Amino acid sequence: MPAQLIDGNALSRRLRVDLAASARGLAARGVTPALAVVLVGEDPASQVYVRNKVKACEDNGLRSVLEKYEATLSEAALLERIAALNGDPMIHGILVQMPLPPHIDPQRVIAAISTAKDVDGYSTLSAGELMTGAAGFRPCTPAGCMALIASTGINLRGKHAVVIGRSNTVGKPMALLLLQAHATVTICHSASVDMARHTRQADVLVAAVGRRGTVTADMVKPGAVVIDVGINRDDAGQLCGDVDFAGVAEVAAFISPVPGGVGPMTITQLLANTLEAAEHAAGAP
Ligand code: NAP
Repeated sequence: MPAQLIDGNALSRRLRVDLAASARGLAARGVTPALAVVLVGEDPASQVYVRNKVKACEDNGLRSVLEKYEATLSEAALLERIAALNGDPMIHGILVQMPLPPHIDPQRVIAAISTAKDVDGYSTLSAGELMTGAAGFRPCTPAGCMALIASTGINLRGKHAVVIGRSNTVGKPMALLLLQAHATVTICHSASVDMARHTRQADVLVAAVGRRGTVTADMVKPGAVVIDVGINRDDAGQLCGDVDFAGVAEVAAFISPVPGGVGPMTITQLLANTLEAAEHAAGAP
């Protein structure tokens, strides 16, 4: 495999040393940074994600408050809980794990989270801050991808970045962050024609689709940086991304694996955002 591995676990470990030090610094000033994680229903994947987030908080000196509710919880009751968390000075970040049961409107729920505590960066206001380049919480997965890309040492200015996927939570914010880093950005999606024509021009290729085998070696420019956001299962039931890892690793210069790439960095960014929220609550500008 000529490509260098972009090790999200190792980078996360390094970054979390500094985050844990920030948490200790806040605690010494009487502010224990705290994240409320709200889980509605029994979705097995969501339970794993929530468990990992709670553990990462505990391991790094943040307090986490896990609120678990039955899938039958009404939207009104959930909104009431969010209002209470918004008003709780001991809580600095609020994360509502998606997906929510179908009778609850996720947009209404996200909109109910105070912007100062929107550590997932999913609200319309946070999206507007990203769009305009104003300060604010950046969505954790794309921000984590940017850190992975930065770890390769590539200077994005003038580079061609191609993002596959245009969701509000991953694809679109990813493209905006790359644009802010002065890359020339192309976004591909399910209606794109001859996607390989675009991806073959990518100095940086980010795949955020949710379909394994989406990116194969023939679609990748030699020497590219490839970031795999997708989470899928292969025929053997093992976790895999959107990128044919073995094939693409023969062509790319850098490649992030699944698992062990974007996943841990998403949680690291969540910790960073929660600490930033706590810093603001503690009086930082
Ligand atoms: P999503 O909302 O389902 O969006 C998927 C995007 O892929 C859509 O924009 C869709 O296009 C596009 N797409 C679907 N089929 C395509 C095709 N054949 N060719 C090109 N584009 C295609 O998913 P998401 O929330 O963005 O997540 C994407 C993947 O990342 C999932 O596997 C998810 O589990 C994973 N993920 C991982 C993390 C992590 O921490 N590691 C975090 C978030 C998400 P249209 O818009 O045209 O439908």
